Amino acid sequence: MSGQREQLPLGLDTPKRRRNRSKEEIILLMLCALSIPSIFPFGIVRLLQHNWVLAAVDLAIVAGMVCVFLYVLNTGRVRWASILVTIFYSSGMLAVIFIKGAPLVYWVYPTMIAAYFMLKAHEALLINTVSLIAMLFALYGQMELLNLSSIAITIILINLFSTIFSYRTNLQHKELNQQAEHDFLTGVGNRRSLDRCLAKLSDPRKTYPESCLLLFDLDHFKKVNDQFGHIIGDQVLVKLCNLIATRIRNTDSVFRYGGEEFVVIAVGANLTAATRLAEELRALVEVTPLIENFSITVSIGVAKITPSETAASWFQRADAMLYEAKQAGRNTVRVAAEKN
Ligand code: GH3
Ligand code: MG
Ligand code: MG
Repeated sequence: MSGQREQLPLGLDTPKRRRNRSKEEIILLMLCALSIPSIFPFGIVRLLQHNWVLAAVDLAIVAGMVCVFLYVLNTGRVRWASILVTIFYSSGMLAVIFIKGAPLVYWVYPTMIAAYFMLKAHEALLINTVSLIAMLFALYGQMELLNLSSIAITIILINLFSTIFSYRTNLQHKELNQQAEHDFLTGVGNRRSLDRCLAKLSDPRKTYPESCLLLFDLDHFKKVNDQFGHIIGDQVLVKLCNLIATRIRNTDSVFRYGGEEFVVIAVGANLTAATRLAEELRALVEVTPLIENFSITVSIGVAKITPSETAASWFQRADAMLYEAKQAGRNTVRVAAEKN
């Protein structure tokens, strides 16, 4: 609360922070950057050997990679760039095999594995399957059937292993994400995901529907712990979150800011709707026996985000209202005046 809390949400007070690059973006940039020095020398050698068609294929791949690299570096958009790069790589590889035949077939392996780094497993599998069929078509008749079958089987195996590996990694990623973004005790979003949500809604480059922040603090919670013990206190926090979840909409989110302080972000709610919600939640907590024969209450500060406001300023206005609610005797809602 204002006057008690000096520290604001970490990293939220600088609206023009440099964009953090996602893992996908870094992988794609690295693959493009690596492919340029790996393929460019081959293009030059083929130019010197007057092997114009292969040189054109190699240099086209390099030029494509440079374009994608610059596009991703500037925009951060990876979805379509990843698909384009994979199709580009695969077509280049197929073109080289069509022209040069069996001796270049070993390029298929790194190319196919690279697809799993850039795309979802089923997308990579689809593109690689089409490539494999085209490659078998190109090589049929050029190689002994036994050798061609060995190549086909090894390619199927690396795709199978890559798909399994990719699914397993995704599963682990989801589990870790769940742990990193949620509060261990109550299961609601933690401080990290709250910071992320506030930063997203206050991003000056994007437009989101009007949103309100409801900051809750349980009244006299120290007394609850003193009187009933910390385990019962913990159970109250869990029950409170479950209670809030029964009343809010699917588009609203609950976070634990810390201790016995919680935040509800009501996306798409104007100040009137958010005030009504806060009042309903306050009254609901008051009448719900979170501990038998003992009344638990909450104080709530509400603020609506204003255009061009930083996340820190938005949070601070709700915090100031929470402080006022406590000063007004607790079990109270206070709402920040709408700013333009
Ligand atoms: P106020 O009405 O002014 O908010 O009074 P308060 O006693 O609630 O004061 P304050 O908000 O400063 O105290 C927070 C207390 O919440 C301190 C701590 O004992 C308790 N608390 C914080 N985190 C947890 C937790 O995870 N479990 C339990 N059981 N108690 C917690
Ligand atoms: Mg508190
Ligand atoms: Mg409290």
